[in-house]
Amino acid sequence: MTATRFQTTRSEELYRRALELLPGGVNSPVRAMRAIARDPVFVARGSGSRIWDADGNEYVDWVGSWGPLILGHAHPAVVEAVIAAARNGTTFGAATEGEVSLAAEVAARIPSVQMLRMTSSGTEATMSALRLARAVTGREQVLKFSGAYHGHVDGLLAEAGSGLATQGIPASPGVPAATARATVIVPWNEPDALRAATEEHRLAAIIAEPVPANMGVVPPAPGFLELLREQADAAGALLVFDEVITGFRIGRGGAQERFRVVPDLTIMGKVVGGGLPAAAYGGSRELMRRIAPAGDVYQAGTLSGNPLAVAAGLATLELLDAGAYDRLEAVTVRLADGLREAAAQSGRPVVVQQVPGLLTVFFTADPVTGYSGAVACDRDAYGSWCRALLARGVYPPASQFEAWFPSLAHTDDDLDRTVSAAAEAFAEVRSG
Ligand SMILES: *Cc1c(COP(=O)(O)O)cnc(C)c1O
Repeated sequence: MTATRFQTTRSEELYRRALELLPGGVNSPVRAMRAIARDPVFVARGSGSRIWDADGNEYVDWVGSWGPLILGHAHPAVVEAVIAAARNGTTFGAATEGEVSLAAEVAARIPSVQMLRMTSSGTEATMSALRLARAVTGREQVLKFSGAYHGHVDGLLAEAGSGLATQGIPASPGVPAATARATVIVPWNEPDALRAATEEHRLAAIIAEPVPANMGVVPPAPGFLELLREQADAAGALLVFDEVITGFRIGRGGAQERFRVVPDLTIMGKVVGGGLPAAAYGGSRELMRRIAPAGDVYQAGTLSGNPLAVAAGLATLELLDAGAYDRLEAVTVRLADGLREAAAQSGRPVVVQQVPGLLTVFFTADPVTGYSGAVACDRDAYGSWCRALLARGVYPPASQFEAWFPSLAHTDDDLDRTVSAAAEAFAEVRSG
């Protein structure tokens, strides 16, 4: 970025080649950074809270691969665990001890998960949990919330957050109409709309991110998660919490522990794989025994429970004790307060919304309580603020419909650098 106009940087060169070989030059849409009107950063390596791009520029990383890296990049305990596992063989397509240990560790943290099935991605876990919910209830319709993201599952792409919101895609072409019709969409944090929808439709499941983080962070209004539980019970539907982001992050037992609302099925991902591809879905033994080969609901995966991913997940969870969650909360609070102050100094109206381990900076004057509020923010201003941060060595989520992911690797120095860069960036946005 500091190179002269006449020289092509390594990143520019890589992007030029990538555009010919990968759709949009990337393997997942938000990485392209189109929402903030710039070219993607090609990352060469990471260590702790920092990443370096292909041209050697250093950044304080607040994305952490969108959630898995709660310990930071290349944590020695995780790297050692992965190397040790790899030495013994990278995959067997057979049962291993590590899978049993990881399942026990998850069950110890999340009491509603007595039994689980691992997958390689959160998308697969969501897809499979809904198959189970449909099998158990004998119904087809699923209620989701607008602005929530549950992976790129066909039926859940309508009014989805994350990359779809970022690209302004209301629903993806290629989804069968019948599949789309099986999804009922309700605005988040609106009790009357939820009540009306649960009365009108025969629902197999209500699926929710208990703290939505894919339209930016929009915590549940007091009583709203309780209402989900009530309405699911009244309708005879399963309550499915997608804790792919919140699980093992906003607390030891995820959102269900923090808000004391217990779902029937829980979807996990990101942190549970410690930075390698792993996810899972789980619930009571009674429900999970419907999954093959214990039961008749089919679901499988060649690399499910992969030994390297299991080792990384276990090494990560082992370090997530009560003290770790206190530290993560402290980092989140300092970052949120610092960003608020920086914005206030510049006179820029922003709202910072947070739960421990997650936050979003919304360019608006009023709290965001749902997807329409998130869409109404000044996203161009967010984009130019992000470009100004990147130019100052701070790597924010390149879309306001995403969260910042504080980690245990972030230091006081990272916080100071970030807040002073943010103050300069706010001033630049105002004048620009
Ligand atoms: C990331 C995410 C998913 C999808 O997980 P992938 O591993 O990307 O398929 C599902 N639900 C939520 C809440 C997520 O944030």
